[in-house]
Formats: sequence, structure tokens, C-alpha cells
Amino acid sequence: MILKKFEELQSYLKTPKNIVIVGHRNPDGDAMGATLGLCHYLKRKGHQPTVVVPNEYPDFLHWLPGSKHVYRFDVQNKQSQKAIRRSEIIFLLDFNTLHRVGSDVQNTLESYPNDFAMIDHHQQPDNFSYMYSDTGMSSTAEMVYHFIEKMGDLNIIDQSIATCLYTGIMTDTGSFRFRSTTSTTHRVIANLIDRGAENDRIHNKVYDSNSQGRLQLLGQALTNLKSLPEYRTAYITLSDEEKSKNGFKKGDTEGVANYALSLDGIIFAAIFIEEKELGIVKISFRSKGTFSVNTFARKYFDGGGHDNAAGGKSDLSINDTVNRFITLVKTHQKEIISSYED
Ligand code: 5GP
Ligand code: MN
Repeated sequence: MILKKFEELQSYLKTPKNIVIVGHRNPDGDAMGATLGLCHYLKRKGHQPTVVVPNEYPDFLHWLPGSKHVYRFDVQNKQSQKAIRRSEIIFLLDFNTLHRVGSDVQNTLESYPNDFAMIDHHQQPDNFSYMYSDTGMSSTAEMVYHFIEKMGDLNIIDQSIATCLYTGIMTDTGSFRFRSTTSTTHRVIANLIDRGAENDRIHNKVYDSNSQGRLQLLGQALTNLKSLPEYRTAYITLSDEEKSKNGFKKGDTEGVANYALSLDGIIFAAIFIEEKELGIVKISFRSKGTFSVNTFARKYFDGGGHDNAAGGKSDLSINDTVNRFITLVKTHQKEIISSYED
């Protein structure tokens, strides 16, 4: 765990400040829950915070309290730039290095004259003025809770803060089931429920709001599932055509990789999603044991993430990417099959 200059940050925040909070590109439930949770908290403390995200986020997160006031850098560019220009400090949430925000936001942040404060749980973080980095944490949203705790402010957590943080923790832990979920995570969740997070409603909003197209795309993905039992590995592909046939929207493939991991005996899984417009194949990796998909994604697919959940990309065609993956799995066979005790 790295906690850098926390006391200084705490005293800096004693007087009202203009603040921008930035989440990573393609924001997920944790990025949105953590940024909005922190935003509500800072507002309660008398600051003027604005959440800026690089691009679109899934529809199933648009109900989050405060979502309407989020600036999308790609669409509300002028407002986003202005908020950043006026800000005295920028919080960076749920990412470890500036290139995770995409080149446009990265360029703007690189010429930012003031300090950054990072709160994040990814491995190999860059260095920023103020840091709270803990790779053992389930989610950045859980870290925002502990940040509020360190500030001595648990008593001011209201329903909006609790709802956002609950959502971030829930989505990043696969509903409290991944290895990163600790007894502390459950105690935090219990406190958030006491503070007004309506757990059943949040689960419904996030998980039971599928469009027919999304479910049919899942059907296609499951049809495409292939397994390599001798390597305890499975993978899914989705072509651009299959996506558009099912009315693909951002977020529709979230969680699909976990279906490959749910296959009996499988401990390493991947999903390959063709993105023709960008000329890349976006990949998500998941594992169950000690085989680090962060290392694997970093080494071979220009990506990263966590030990058991990471992402990356490839410039090859989807078929060539899959073939390269299979070759790599073969080279890592020993490591993979010995990485998990049933
Ligand atoms: P997902 O597979 O759900 O997109 O992402 C899983 C985890 O890996 C997340 O924590 C995400 O931030 C990280 N991740 C996904 N794609 C990339 C990537 O291209 N580069 C890096 N460094 N991390 C990624
Ligand atoms: Mn996260």
C-alpha cells in the first residue's frame, strides 16, 4: 500500500477548492461509482467538484446519482477543458497511468500545472503528488470509502455517496465473489447499506436492465465459446458483424468473459472483441488462481490490469489474434495448469 502525503492533502482540503475528478477511458461500474461517490463526498465538504470521463459509459450506469452532471470529454469538450482549467487539484480514480484516459485527455492532463491526487488499486502505478494506491483492494470505490474514513468523515456518508460506492464495489467484485473480496469489503458494504444504499434496487438497475439485443449478443458469444481443456483455458470471440447484428452498445460485453471462466475446470479465460473502426481487437483476460493475467496482458497484448482480471489489445485480425493466443497458452501450459488448486 502506498499512501503519499495524505496529511498534506487533508489540510489542503480544509478550505473549499475547485476540483476535477477523472475516471479512465471506457468507464466501468467502479470508475463511475468511485468518481461520483467521491464527488458527492467532496460536495458535502463544501468543495466544487466536477467529474470528467474520457468517453461514453454503459447505459446501466446512467441512473447513478449525479450522472447527469458528468462531463464527457469527447462530447462536452469545452466544458471539460474549462473545468480542468479552473480546477486547483485533479483526482485520478481507478487507473494507474495517464495513458489509460486516452490520448486526448492525456494531452490535456500532461500540461496541467497543479497537483494530481490518485486513488487506485491497479498494479505498477505511476508517481503522482498525492497517492493512495493499494493493489490488494477490491475496487477503487472501496478505497474511496477508506479515504473518507481516513478523513474522519464516515458520519457524513449519505444515500448518494453510499449508492455510488456500493455500485463500484459490487461491479468490480463480480457481486462480492472475486478473490479480492475481503471480510472488510463486506463490512464496508454493510455500512453502506446502513447509510442508505438500497442493495436490491442497485442489483436490479445494473444487472436486470438488459436489452433484448444484449442478451442475444450474449447468446452469440456463448455459441462462439471454445475450450482448450488440456490447458484449462477457454475463450470467446465476437466479430464486428455479430456485434452490429445484435445492436451492440457500449457495455454490452461487460461480464461476458466470466462465462468462459465459469466452464467447469477452466481457470484461464479470454474474450476477443473485434473493433473494426479502431482497427484493433480488444481483449479481456480472466483467471482464477495465481496465473497473473496482468503480466500476460502486459507482456503480449499491450495491456494490464489486475492478477485475475486484465485487458489488452491486438492489431492483428481476430483470427490471427486467437491463433497467437493459443500458441502463447501452449507455451505457458505448465504455469497455467499449476496455478489453481481445485
Ligand atoms: P476489462 O477486461 O473488464 O476491460 O478490464 C479488466 C481490468 O483490466 C480493469 O481493471 C481494467 O482497468 C484493466 N484493463 C483493461 N484493458 C486494459 C488495457 O488495455 N490496458 C491496461 N493497462 N489495463 C487494462
Ligand atoms: Mn476498478
